[in-house]
Amino acid sequence: MNKLLTLSQALENMLGALSPPSETQTEIISLDQAQNRICAEDIRSPINVPGFDNSAMDGYAVRLAELQDHHALSVVGKSFAGAPFLGEWQAKSAVRIMTGAMIPNGCDAVIMQEQAEIDADGKVRFNADAKAGQNIRRIGEDVKIGEIVLKQGAKLTALSLPLLASLGIEKVRVFKRLKVALISTGDELVAVGAPLKTGQIYDTNRFAVKLMLEKWNCEILDYGILPDDPTLFEQKFTQAQQEADLLITSGGVSVGEADFTKSVLEKLGQINFWKLAIKPGKPFAFGKLQHAWFCGLPGNPVSALVTFYQLVQPVIATLSGYREWQKPVQLTAMATTPLKKAPGRLDFQRGFYRVNAEGQAEVRSVGFQGSHMFSSFVASNCFIVLEQERGNVAVGETVTIEPFDLSVLN
Ligand code: AMP
Ligand code: MG
Repeated sequence: MNKLLTLSQALENMLGALSPPSETQTEIISLDQAQNRICAEDIRSPINVPGFDNSAMDGYAVRLAELQDHHALSVVGKSFAGAPFLGEWQAKSAVRIMTGAMIPNGCDAVIMQEQAEIDADGKVRFNADAKAGQNIRRIGEDVKIGEIVLKQGAKLTALSLPLLASLGIEKVRVFKRLKVALISTGDELVAVGAPLKTGQIYDTNRFAVKLMLEKWNCEILDYGILPDDPTLFEQKFTQAQQEADLLITSGGVSVGEADFTKSVLEKLGQINFWKLAIKPGKPFAFGKLQHAWFCGLPGNPVSALVTFYQLVQPVIATLSGYREWQKPVQLTAMATTPLKKAPGRLDFQRGFYRVNAEGQAEVRSVGFQGSHMFSSFVASNCFIVLEQERGNVAVGETVTIEPFDLSVLN
């Protein structure tokens, strides 16, 4: 047991070996193609935002000195968003102004229209005191010209892309998409669409991993299903190291007679073959072919997805140039069902959490936890993370959970 690496040791080891892409691995694309791409340089604002002092309210632009004797002011003109008031202000006057409209020269406050009354002769009178600068949005108070608005390594999202658009930025330099080759290994695997013969199963992992890679905006090289034949492994691994930045396989990393991943990797490249102290996902391989990194997922679909989630995502993040990757967010919740657990490995059990009427998170097991039980994974909305040395969990105990849901703004 002692020889098994912990998850954090494995992560440290992997991330220590990897480096982000170089300056040459970049391209310039338009903003509307850039969602989820990674910014390859610091972006500075070419303009001030706001670009001019403007009104935060519909109301009246005034000069405070003229309000002191509480006389009514004549309204000498209008400033609309997009149609500023450019005329002269004579003494004892105000300018009607709308939200976003340019502040006229000399104006030092905007009084909102709810605090104004119009006399029968069309003059305006105010029923509240005004302070210098009130309701004026100042030039550059959101973004200053030349200021860095997005750092190299940031993800371009539904939040950050509109910011760039507001600065008039049309194109952005991003890191090239990571090229990821994908293989499912196993004599028993059949592609969806073909009939199943005795002893065969459908290939789940390639599809599952492909969907995850799409979320990461990778360029996917789908090499299909590979029978358990070391010669074929060698061919495909060789192809991958010429074409891809990363090769992900599933299956063939255990210690069975048909598990060739390790020997072929050793032959073609360097290998850190890990047995991890996590469940599911004990067999997981990480290494390097000549020009491509390698991650070997276990064959059981639940294990494949858990190890992809916990271990391969940070690899992809680093190789894609993404600097903001964080470990999955953890919360605490109260167990409402007992959880079976043997000490020795860090468990990622599948659970369903909800926030109860008292505002407290509670979590239940979704039932069968076998790593071949994909259907219970689908019924879950979080991992229940049970520490390595922990044993069975009773109802009412506090546990750590990692919710799956992430904001679409991200
Ligand atoms: P292995 O790691 O190759 O020994 O596979 C472990 C288990 O996962 C076996 O029951 C395999 O049949 C199953 N398995 C392997 N690859 C896949 C796959 N792509 N889709 C579904 N099940 C798989
Ligand atoms: Mg196999």
